[in-house]
Amino acid sequence: MSAVAEASAPKAPRRITSWHLLLNNRLATAGLVLLGLVALMILLVPILPLPDPDVTAPADRLKPLFTAGHLLGTDQLGRDILSRLLWGTRVSVAVGFAATLIAAFVGSAIGIVAGYAGGRTDNAMMRGIDMLMAFPYILLALAIVAALGPGLMNALYAIAVVNIPFFARNVRGVTLGYVHREFVDAARLSGKGNLSIILTEVLPNVLPVIVITMSTTAGWMILETAGLSFLGLGAQPPQADLGSMLGEGRAQLFTAPHVSIVPGVMIFLIVISLNVLGDGVRDVLDPRLRSGALARPGPVTDVASGRAVPANAAADAALSIACLETGFQRGSKIVPAVRGVSLYVKPGECLGLIGESGSGKSVTALSVMGLVASPPGLIRNGAVYLGNEDVLAMPETRLIASRGSRVAYVFQDPLTTLHPMYPVGRQVEEAIAAHQSIGAAACRERAVALLEKVGIPEARERAKHYPHQLSGGQRQRVGIAMALANDPDVIIADEPTTALDVTVQARILELLRDLQRERGMALLFITHDFGVVSEICDRVAVMKDGEIVETGETRAVLANPQHAYTKRLIACVPELGTGERFLERVTGLFAGGKEQAS
Ligand code: ADP
Ligand code: MG
Repeated sequence: MSAVAEASAPKAPRRITSWHLLLNNRLATAGLVLLGLVALMILLVPILPLPDPDVTAPADRLKPLFTAGHLLGTDQLGRDILSRLLWGTRVSVAVGFAATLIAAFVGSAIGIVAGYAGGRTDNAMMRGIDMLMAFPYILLALAIVAALGPGLMNALYAIAVVNIPFFARNVRGVTLGYVHREFVDAARLSGKGNLSIILTEVLPNVLPVIVITMSTTAGWMILETAGLSFLGLGAQPPQADLGSMLGEGRAQLFTAPHVSIVPGVMIFLIVISLNVLGDGVRDVLDPRLRSGALARPGPVTDVASGRAVPANAAADAALSIACLETGFQRGSKIVPAVRGVSLYVKPGECLGLIGESGSGKSVTALSVMGLVASPPGLIRNGAVYLGNEDVLAMPETRLIASRGSRVAYVFQDPLTTLHPMYPVGRQVEEAIAAHQSIGAAACRERAVALLEKVGIPEARERAKHYPHQLSGGQRQRVGIAMALANDPDVIIADEPTTALDVTVQARILELLRDLQRERGMALLFITHDFGVVSEICDRVAVMKDGEIVETGETRAVLANPQHAYTKRLIACVPELGTGERFLERVTGLFAGGKEQAS
């Protein structure tokens, strides 16, 4: 990377393309290189100075490897093995790939149509596929060749046909997952025809699966081609392909093993390199692996090495964020999401962080404990002080140990943050056990006490229930109990009541407020609702497009908002009985605030 680019994007890791991911996989790269070499050789074979592969020379039979003029020796009819090998590989690879393409095309078409149409069409098509699958496939291939007559083209058809079911089944399965998705319904509502929906909505989503199946079956098909030729049903003499060379060399296995070993090694190399490459391609294209395994985010958000570290402006605060800048890697650029945010929360205080969706509130909150996924996240500048210690400069283990014990989070949707397969009591116990080494019985008692504390009735019984057996409000209470488990100094609540109805919201707010007062914790409360802020926050910071535009005592800001954006947010709080004027007020302010908004 050039010095200029480095200056503009500190410690910017390169953009990770599929290509990079593939080359990161050493085995896949080796397979790719090997296949590249084979491809080069079989493309160049017509212009290489090789003897005619089919000309026999009985006087020169079974010459060993490295004979002058015959690098790989000669076979039982005196034909040059190198020449036959290259020409034969050309035939085998061409037939294998052609069969793959045919099977992929026909199989995918069947799979998509069956999955898309459903009902009787699906049933009829899939029963046909089942019938194909009911035969051992090599037997089926033999039967097809027997019916059509031996020959390379017939072998190709036979192999294509027996592989159609793999594509049809895979593709149908994936198609089923897409046909009931909202974007397909939307396309249908917009008046698109079936064919057009299949081609533009379904196919692009299914394509990775088709490519993956192709890359993992191509080696297999080359092997099957060789198998049929080996049995004398594929390539016919004198034409060479890898299978027929192997078959013809079999009789000389003991007197001249190289005649069969040479094509055998070639088959092995091609198939193994296709398989490792296929695995690599699958890892790259499979969306689940793509977002995870190969480019797994680190345990802690990356921090730019040359970041500016401002001093702590609020020494007595429990949490103080100074000029925090967090961005996301996109291409070679870093798109900022949080730009120079500074705020602090003192012990026993509640700070509201308010802003519309996408203004950077969650990224700010997650940056505090290095929880923004990296890549693509990167903290470019600023500091986060817990007491007087800069979190971003902490060793990784200490930072991870501080999560939950010094700073705890409560998230928006308790159903997604609670584990569906464990009773809630056990999850609270786990939160305790993560930071305290106390006995199992004591841990259970503490968990029940915590659940009681957050207002869950009959806590001992309820602790045995699973998340789906609790109401939304109760689940959020469990979330709060988990956050309280280790008596943290700071609780960050990221829209904890947005998923709840108004009465439950009021009770949860009250609970948070009481607990926070009682324990003297600092509470950073994130919301988009000024109504909520007015109920529980001492001070408020208003965030817009990644920046704090206004901050102050809640009452003062509510009574006399300075920034147009703050006025708009306040106007968004509906008042009873002003329904008709509500929209007027909000839209009026929107029109007024346009120049500032854009
Ligand atoms: P909110 O204020 O609603 O919590 P966020 O903090 O989640 O907003 O998002 C702020 C900005 O950061 C948004 O523009 C969003 O697109 C961007 N962003 C958040 N997470 C990622 C990510 N993983 N990759 C790229 N951009 C992201
Ligand atoms: Mg958010």
